[in-house]
Amino acid sequence: MSGDRCEWKRCRAEADMSYLGRAICKSHFSRMCEMQDVGREEEARKLIGLPPRTTTQIPPEVGRLIDELRMDQDRKNSAHQARSDRVVQDP
Ligand SMILES: [Zn+2]
Repeated sequence: MSGDRCEWKRCRAEADMSYLGRAICKSHFSRMCEMQDVGREEEARKLIGLPPRTTTQIPPEVGRLIDELRMDQDRKNSAHQARSDRVVQDP
């Protein structure tokens, strides 16, 4: 993908990487991250030409999988928590 141009609005820099299938330069990639951090992700997505996240439907089976992964993660976290509690109580 060398020679691609950054797809950020009005940017003509050469793209350094791709973000969600969009060519993007390094400075706009960090700009993108900054905007996400301050809750301006939708605005950032528009600037790079991505559809708003709200229109992206997660299929039910994928949503279920995400829930399972989260629950699994929670179980691991609480198991870890229990172990560290025991260490604290029983030195
Ligand atoms: Zn750019």
